[in-house]
Amino acid sequence: MSAIDWHARAAALKPDGRLLIDGERLEAKSGETFEGRSPIDNRLLAPIARGRAEDVDAAVRSARAAFDDGRWSQLAPAVRKRLLQRFAERILAAKDELALLETLDMGKPIQHALGVDVASTARCIAWYAEAIDKVYDEVAPTSSTALALVTREPMGVIGAIVPWNYPMIMAAWKLGPALAAGNSVVLKPSEKSPLTALRLAELAIEAGVPPGVFNVITGLGAEAGEALALHMDVDAIGFTGSTRTGRRMLEYAGRSNLKRVYNELGGKSAFVVFPDFADLARAARTVAGSIFFNQGESCNAPSRVLVHESVADEFVRLAAAEAPKYPPADPLHPATEMGAIVDETQLRTVLGYIASGREEGAQLVSGGRRALEATGGFYVEPTIFDHVDNRMRIAREEIFGPVLSLIRFRTEDEAIALANDSPYGLSASVWTDHLSRAHRVARRIRAGMVHVNQYDEDDITVPFGGYKQSGNGRDKSLHAFEKYTELKTTWIRVDAAPAP
Ligand code: NAD
Repeated sequence: MSAIDWHARAAALKPDGRLLIDGERLEAKSGETFEGRSPIDNRLLAPIARGRAEDVDAAVRSARAAFDDGRWSQLAPAVRKRLLQRFAERILAAKDELALLETLDMGKPIQHALGVDVASTARCIAWYAEAIDKVYDEVAPTSSTALALVTREPMGVIGAIVPWNYPMIMAAWKLGPALAAGNSVVLKPSEKSPLTALRLAELAIEAGVPPGVFNVITGLGAEAGEALALHMDVDAIGFTGSTRTGRRMLEYAGRSNLKRVYNELGGKSAFVVFPDFADLARAARTVAGSIFFNQGESCNAPSRVLVHESVADEFVRLAAAEAPKYPPADPLHPATEMGAIVDETQLRTVLGYIASGREEGAQLVSGGRRALEATGGFYVEPTIFDHVDNRMRIAREEIFGPVLSLIRFRTEDEAIALANDSPYGLSASVWTDHLSRAHRVARRIRAGMVHVNQYDEDDITVPFGGYKQSGNGRDKSLHAFEKYTELKTTWIRVDAAPAP
């Protein structure tokens, strides 16, 4: 691990919380700000511009002008590729600063901010850059008197509204395909974690992305977010966040210009352990590593373990033995595995769910309490409940904290029914040594992503997104281009004989 003194660097950091519109850092027109605080110890990080409708309007106008004059949208794909590759290089060159901002802003361990968040963000931008001059359009198989071209065109102005759990990565999953395809973007980061979005936009401009192409509006969801989603000149919203807010995105589109809405929402993913899986210890290690990663604040966290009753006691013992490996600790310490919950509101939500699990009769196996209160920050112990019933709130609702619920089942059909008995359908995992069972169960689980005998494998090359109330559309992979492009058919007449 690096010998960087992150505390010293944090003390020297002076984040700039102003908006970024048309290449310029600006106060909100109202002059208002809100406090950006760190969940590590509640320290004040910076005043953050409280953008409102008039600021959103300025950003959308800038993005529209950039789109219409072609300074980005009309560049040859190979030129956009080079500029976005430079953007990715700048991200890597600024990796320590970006990781520190991310950790300070939302509390994740610095080693993960560096090794996961910065690295994945740069890879995502570079991957879409590299892809864009390798995607071909189509010629339809029509009659000899016509030529029909089926082409993809950038949509125009994309509003990207993202959450606080992976602020940079979630932004990159929108920015990569949207910018590579030639759109302009107005990014609205979460009010809980706005700092890296602002730095990313500065780095893009330094890399040569023209001003106006990538703007950032900070502010509250109900103000800046709502204004962006209601804006009449925004062509599409790429949203990642809660199902509650995703519902609103659809309403905003209906109340305004019927803009396209792509929702990446919550999850309550099942991790199904069959008794024929020999290496129970590996399954237990994997589930702990996933549910306690990022303080449990992952949309695809395997928060429901469905375990066959014949191996349940052993599995619970093994999982409980994993929990102490994730003690909440100082996120700026390079060895820390679990950091701070994003803010006090989320801390109260997580503790509220833990209380509800107890009240509804689940058995607390480990954790369950707030930790490190003296720091002034917001930490929760890794928590495991056994004997959870799938009707309990802790089994039905997304907690977004380090809380694992274990549910016992008797038959394969019952396991599948339990896995599917959820309003969500984001991700799932099946643990079995039977090839046919692996395929059979994977096919029957209604989720956008199913893992077999693993959970963590992930790559920019595959789609990410869910069924049911986990959203629509897919981030990542070439499929993400579908969200930010319009399909155009152009008919050209081909005369059968030369004109006389
Ligand atoms: P959230 O819905 O509260 O906020 C997300 C974004 O929406 C923020 O930028 C917020 O400011 C904005 N917002 C909030 N209210 C708004 C409103 N009324 N109008 C317009 N914008 C509004 O979600 P969160 O708490 O920031 O993030 C956690 C959620 O994100 C979880 O549910 C998690 O599962 C989900 N998530 C999903 C994925 C995925 O790919 N499926 C990935 C990461 C996170």
